Amino acid sequence: MAAAGRGEQPFALVIDDDRGARLLACKLLEDAGFRVGEAPDGREGMAAFERFRPAIVLLDVVMPNVDGFAVCTEIRKSPGGEHIPVLMMTGLDDIDSINRAYQAGATDFITKPINWTILKHRLRYILRANTMSNDLRKSEAKNRALINALPDMLLQIGRDGSILDIRSQGGFDHVFSPGKLLSKRIAEVFSHEVSAQILENLNLALYTREMQFFEHKLHLDEDLYYYEWRIVNNGADEALAIVRDITERKRTEEKVELLAYHDPLTGLLNRHSFKEHLENAVESARRRGRYVGTLFLDLDRFKRINDTLGYKVGDLLLQGVAERILESVRKSDKAARQVGGVNSSSISRLGGDEFTILLPEIRQVQDTSKVAQRLLDSLARPFAIAGHEIFVTGSIGITVFPLDGEDADTLLKNADSAMYGAKEQGRNNFQFYSESMNAASLKRLALENSLRKAMDRQEFMLYFQPQVQIASGRTTGMEVLLRWRHPELGLVPPIDFIPLAEETGMIVPIGEWVLAAACIRNRALQEMGLEPRRVAVNISSLQFRRQSLLASVRKALDMSKLNPAYLELELTESSIMKNWEESSRILHELKAMGVRVAIDDFGTGYSSLAYLKRFPLDVLKIDYSFIKDIPADQDNAAIATAIIAMAHSLNLKVVAEGVETREQLAFLDDLGCDEVQGYFFSPALSSDKIEIYLQKEERQNGRQCG
Ligand code: C2E
Ligand code: MG
Ligand code: MG
Repeated sequence: MAAAGRGEQPFALVIDDDRGARLLACKLLEDAGFRVGEAPDGREGMAAFERFRPAIVLLDVVMPNVDGFAVCTEIRKSPGGEHIPVLMMTGLDDIDSINRAYQAGATDFITKPINWTILKHRLRYILRANTMSNDLRKSEAKNRALINALPDMLLQIGRDGSILDIRSQGGFDHVFSPGKLLSKRIAEVFSHEVSAQILENLNLALYTREMQFFEHKLHLDEDLYYYEWRIVNNGADEALAIVRDITERKRTEEKVELLAYHDPLTGLLNRHSFKEHLENAVESARRRGRYVGTLFLDLDRFKRINDTLGYKVGDLLLQGVAERILESVRKSDKAARQVGGVNSSSISRLGGDEFTILLPEIRQVQDTSKVAQRLLDSLARPFAIAGHEIFVTGSIGITVFPLDGEDADTLLKNADSAMYGAKEQGRNNFQFYSESMNAASLKRLALENSLRKAMDRQEFMLYFQPQVQIASGRTTGMEVLLRWRHPELGLVPPIDFIPLAEETGMIVPIGEWVLAAACIRNRALQEMGLEPRRVAVNISSLQFRRQSLLASVRKALDMSKLNPAYLELELTESSIMKNWEESSRILHELKAMGVRVAIDDFGTGYSSLAYLKRFPLDVLKIDYSFIKDIPADQDNAAIATAIIAMAHSLNLKVVAEGVETREQLAFLDDLGCDEVQGYFFSPALSSDKIEIYLQKEERQNGRQCG
């Protein structure tokens, strides 16, 4: 006999001790298209069940030795028996039997006497339903197996963001265990940023009914993990989130990127990506009209180290050099920012012992030499490697876009050849590609040396430029302007040496001298019987930020016995904006001392009157670039007008610089400008000449008055 379930006809097993009923049932079922087996009692019934594996069992309750309940229980226990429909035949009103039948696992019951016509239909329906539920079970089992095989975490999330259910393979336990997530809200489990991202996608999934996909990072202790989320709508108010840990993939990608773009020995950029960075920097500098510096560093006599100490030591030295370069760039981060933001992403090892450093967006060509010198200095310390103390130096070639090349290849090639120039110069130095820049660099070096000696040699002199009150036409003050009489170069203008003095810090002693000398000279003029006037002294930002400024001012006033009211300090906006609280403290101290404070070159910096309002200031000096060509230059006229009006609204006196013509003076007078300074009245005069100038002015005024 064929096993049940195989072939077209289903197999039915009838177990009943009533022979008549059994025969009837068999006959009927055969007529209805079943193949039929029968058994006269429970024990034989079980044996038949094992043998035939029927698709359905018709089971009498009351039988000798083993009753129907026991048979049913056994069937349920036997492998494959748990889902076979078992129909139990009970007495009509035997409620107790019906309950026990269900408890034993019966699928349904029929009551005796049996309506055989209906029974055969009933059996068909039961069988059909069973087939369906079997199919469903199979597909569910398949799904479950599939889901269990997935490495993903599944989250059932409610519309309000609460986690309703969770299934995880355990791979997520390091980050979030199911216990940590269940019944929580998304916002309670994830960071603000991540939960905002999840909730946004959740809403989109619910609203659009389309799958939402996103990735996010998770910081945990020291580590960074990456996750990929898919959120699908899963009913009216729920969504299913499938979360995958993609940390490994991301890390691999990072590694691949590192290998593709970096030098494996030092971790710096490789040639390919350095060129890419350089090209980008050149493009951006071209648009913004800036310079880009390229430094090409080659270690001196590196081959000898490789030859004598071996490649291993050579490699360690290269790593050490890379460290030094990074360190010297980082340590001078501030300075580096001034020269255009050097950072580790701009440094490469091209190969061998050649390194390149990119200086994007520098303002002055000479800034590149500062970085070059810093690099040479950083190499000067010996390297301790594998028990050896190794000394290396480097030779650096410098190119500057656009002067030495228009593209990355040319700039690199020329920097390389400039580096050879540095080798020829005896190594351990830097050379520009262009001769004119080398000359400029040398000149700067020479200037720096002679500037260091200028104080001792008493080469500095003070010049005084009158500041004239428009209303009275009188000189009410004078600005002190420093002059350097260089033994060979002659008179060096301040713009040629003040920046250098600031860079080297020499401005501090120089400025102190200017301050004292100006006070002394002003006091001397007063003692000569001239009207008392203010003397205005320029204070560089470096000087202003030094603790010693207030002390220097006090000392200068003490020494000269000058009334503080006749001293004015000219500060620039940028120097007081740098450290807001400290500036405010110093300015209040100056105010308390009775010294006046002017803001110099106003309009060229932040030009933030709102900020200036908070400081105790007295005077605003409009930069001469805005006085130029007024009133014809309408932009400048508008700017000057606005500055004067705003300054007056803040109770500041206004001094206009660089007034050269009668028209400028008349226009400024109309605007209510208080004082002017410029060639129209007088250029800056030497110490002797200002004395004569003032005496003459006072004589004339006296004559007018008298
Ligand atoms: P500044 O403080 O803005 O000085 C005004 C500059 O404008 C001076 O240039 C002055 O000679 C020039 N000037 C005056 N009248 C006219 C004019 O009618 N037309 C034109 N075109 N220019 C005029 P100078 O003396 O060359 O000084 C340049 C800068 O050097 C000063 O600008 C100041 O920032 C700095 N400086 C000068 N002396 C000192 C000093 O003792 N200490 C510090 N820290 N800086 C100083
Ligand atoms: Mg000034
Ligand atoms: Mg000025």
